[in-house]
Amino acid sequence: MRIPKIVILGAGYGGLITAVRLQKQLGVNEAEVVLVNKNDYHYETTWLHEASAGTLHHDRVRYDITSVIDRHKVDFVQGTVMEINKEEKKVVLENGEINYDYLVVALGGEPETFGIKGLKEFAFGITNVNSSRQLREHIEYQFATYNIEEEKKDERLTIVVGGAGFTGIEFLGELGNRIPELCQEYDVDFNKVRVICVEAAPTVLPGFDPELVDYAVAVLEQKGVEFMIGTAIKECTPEGIIVSKGENETMEIKAETVVWAAGIRGNSVIEKSGFEAMRGRVKVQPDLRVPGFEDVFIIGDCSLVINEEINRPYPPTAQIAIQQGEVVAKNLTALVRGKAELENFVPDIKGTVCSLGEDDAIGVVYGKKLTGGKASIMKKVIDNRSLYLVGGAGLVLKKGKFNIL
Ligand code: FAD
Ligand code: NAD
Repeated sequence: MRIPKIVILGAGYGGLITAVRLQKQLGVNEAEVVLVNKNDYHYETTWLHEASAGTLHHDRVRYDITSVIDRHKVDFVQGTVMEINKEEKKVVLENGEINYDYLVVALGGEPETFGIKGLKEFAFGITNVNSSRQLREHIEYQFATYNIEEEKKDERLTIVVGGAGFTGIEFLGELGNRIPELCQEYDVDFNKVRVICVEAAPTVLPGFDPELVDYAVAVLEQKGVEFMIGTAIKECTPEGIIVSKGENETMEIKAETVVWAAGIRGNSVIEKSGFEAMRGRVKVQPDLRVPGFEDVFIIGDCSLVINEEINRPYPPTAQIAIQQGEVVAKNLTALVRGKAELENFVPDIKGTVCSLGEDDAIGVVYGKKLTGGKASIMKKVIDNRSLYLVGGAGLVLKKGKFNIL
């Protein structure tokens, strides 16, 4: 008898959790499980701001996928997904095709540039290992070049960060620690460096606890960050950015480094494959399947789940992607075993912690506000927990963060 074939696209938080749960829950004779990912490694997306600033080496944020999957139970295919043909139940890869009986789409997000001119061409993103490595190298190159040039270009030492959401703020926290190191290494006067955060909303971290926001702003200003609040990036050019404040006021900021950290959308494969989506995110059923396609589950940043209490989508987070992966693995196990009843996904939001560099953070955990060292320890506990859920204590020991005290 032919056994069903489950194909998981993406080995990020959602996809990898699905795979390791399935390898525990299903016997080899029950289903064929295939995991597809662009690279042969998984990276911790939630640590990329550190690799981008250069405070953590990029090899620390990634590990081999085959080190955490059981190859007798899960077949790993390295490949780039181009499109999903849901009518023919087929995935088109750059280097081939794969058929499926059940599909899990967990391809993560991409930067949302809102059609702003020049961003795609001239701004850096904090998106994956490659983009983080490129950004770190670019910043370091500006410092290395500054003193060599006869005519000093101060814009070499100007870094603009677009967006004061969690990604922007966490990156600024790391930069705040990295800049003094770079100044020392390359004999650059700290006072020549400018780090400017441009945020369109009237506040940093819109929607977050105002007391914690004030704490974060004070810490970052202390580290030299300038905030331009209520100011939107309108264009990015090879020389810097054009911003607007209010109706008519526009201004140019010259900067050799512009980092776009002002939002994400679902993976472009979603729209290319003809799924009905809002900014690349598919509104899934409570059991995480796609309406009209009972054999396709979508999780993580490609999925959209409404928070009924406020009638708005939950923000895309690793916390949600991991929990969705656990539910999908249970639901696939039920389907393979011929059960019709599936579990609904109910997010269990434990809190949010935002780092402000290696030893400082802000957060709300189980309704309790945290700042400083305590919040920073909590952040590392959360980081280690995601490793534990995938690879147990062994992976935590290999890749975990222990610089807690
Ligand atoms: P991802 O974990 O991003 O994984 C997607 C995978 O798909 C990757 O392995 C990628 O290589 C692969 N892939 C992509 N396209 C293709 C393709 N075409 N073909 C094959 N493979 C492909 N959330 C939190 O809850 N807490 C945090 O502290 C937190 N911090 C963050 C910090 C930063 C700097 C950033 C950028 C995000 C942070 N987030 C955080 C959000 C969180 O990282 C995402 O919501 C989460 O990674 C989404 O998980 P996912 O499984 O959908 O995708
Ligand atoms: P976001 O959408 O949360 O924040 C983007 C920010 O950019 C917003 O404050 C927005 O007002 C601003 N912005 C948009 N357009 C702009 C423009 N033209 N000019 C200036 N500012 C502009 O995006 P994010 O910070 O990348 O976060 C993405 C997701 O990842 C969120 O769901 C977030 O919760 C999650 N995340 C969580 C953590 C954490 O829990 N520690 C860390 C990073 C990211």
